[in-house]
Parts: sequence; structure tokens; C-alpha cells
Amino acid sequence: MSPEIYRPFVGLLGFNLLALLLVGLYYANRLLWPKPMAAPGKIYRCAKCNHVYVDPRDVPMARCPQCDHFNEAIRR
Ligand SMILES: [Zn+2]
Repeated sequence: MSPEIYRPFVGLLGFNLLALLLVGLYYANRLLWPKPMAAPGKIYRCAKCNHVYVDPRDVPMARCPQCDHFNEAIRR
């Protein structure tokens, strides 16, 4: 068989290898991208008025800014 018959397959193979290379580069660089930092403090949900708020201090209970009710942290 002549090499001319392989030409479309070589083109497809080259295209697929190039796509694989680009995907590999994308995921290799993704590990270096900075991750969004979590806001400091804990998240609270008021049991009285359902207001969700963040207190930057590391305290087990915080006062709701809307109704002054004390609530326990629901997350970190
Ligand atoms: Zn409240």
C-alpha cells in the first residue's frame, strides 16, 4: 500500500495527540493556580430570625446583628 492511504489517519492521530497535549497542559497548570481563600471566622445562623452572618472572632457563640440573640456556629 502506498503511504498516501495513511495520510487521513496520520492527520487524525496528530489532531488527537495535540488535543491530549492541550488537556494535559491545562490540568498541569490548574494545580498551580491559586485557590480562593476561605473568609476568616465562623458562620452562624440565628435560631430566632434565620439571619446568616459571619463573626471573624474564634468564639463558640456570637450575637446576631439583627436581633441580638446568641447562636452557636454552624460551620468552622
Ligand atoms: Zn437574629
